[in-house]
Amino acid sequence: MLPFKLVYSDDYYLPIGSHVFPAEKYQRIHERLLESGVADAKDFVSPQPASDEDILLVHTPQYVHKLKTGTLSAREELEMEIPYSPELVRAFWLAAGGSILAADYALNDRVAFNIGGGFHHAFPDHGEGFCMIHDVAVAIRRLQRDDQIRTAMTVDCDVHQGNGTAAIFAGTRTESVPLPSASHSTLSPSAAAKTGAPQGKMRGAHAGDVFTISLHQHNNYPMFKPPSSIDVDLPDGTGDADYLAWLDNALSSGLRQFEPDLLCYVAGADPYREDKLGGLDLTIEGLKKRDELVFRVARARDIPVMVTYAGGYARNVEDTVTIHSNTVIAAKEVFSPRS
Ligand SMILES: [Zn+2]
Repeated sequence: MLPFKLVYSDDYYLPIGSHVFPAEKYQRIHERLLESGVADAKDFVSPQPASDEDILLVHTPQYVHKLKTGTLSAREELEMEIPYSPELVRAFWLAAGGSILAADYALNDRVAFNIGGGFHHAFPDHGEGFCMIHDVAVAIRRLQRDDQIRTAMTVDCDVHQGNGTAAIFAGTRTESVPLPSASHSTLSPSAAAKTGAPQGKMRGAHAGDVFTISLHQHNNYPMFKPPSSIDVDLPDGTGDADYLAWLDNALSSGLRQFEPDLLCYVAGADPYREDKLGGLDLTIEGLKKRDELVFRVARARDIPVMVTYAGGYARNVEDTVTIHSNTVIAAKEVFSPRS
């Protein structure tokens, strides 16, 4: 039995037909975790859908109304890049409920997973990039409303920048929080310097009650990247060593400036070298080291971690399932009482 909970429902399946997003991945991860003995049935808990009130903590009444009445414009549906249906709306409300539940469990158990979610391209007033509802933002706002947390940090390791996250939490920024150092020379990871690999770029901005970190491929969707508190713009083909050095650097820099009550880890599988929508060069082993790094840092500072899965478009879907399952294994290794 795991020392933490996995929030999951068969109804996480997204009814989007034949699509580059492997909507069946959630069921496959669930099966893999059980078949491999990593988890047993008692480790899983079922979510309830978020309430409309929860969703409205992040999204505009106009947008929610359009979703509930099926009145998105053709352009809005196109921008979402997944076909609208009432069933799809239900799946996203459920994913948001799952992230709320996982965040709640994380506060008690130090870590918890939503075996879904991570829809970081959803904005308050529209969806895009396969994302209708920003489940992570809904979870943060709900826990804040209930006074369970005051502050949160998002650590987004999907290959695509967390534009929705950045936009949602930008409005909460205040002038009282100092800017991070803008000196790239002090922020450059030594690994990149040693190998002479192309340098990524780290950009900083103010943070309010939610500090947002995004590590992503610079030359990829979204074209326009609204500023996160820290953005790490990685060059094409970044491999394991440089990626891990940048992540370490971003986490250290973020945690020097900000003390979160909850860390929301968006563990996208698409920085993988075999990804159809990504252009980074991480291996399956490198991605597991990434997960371990996030968990070790959180554990050392006693910050609860809520995990969501976001994207993953490996040529072989089994690789995506392996990468996501490995995130649970990494948490098990880092958070088991013996370690
Ligand atoms: Zn992605």
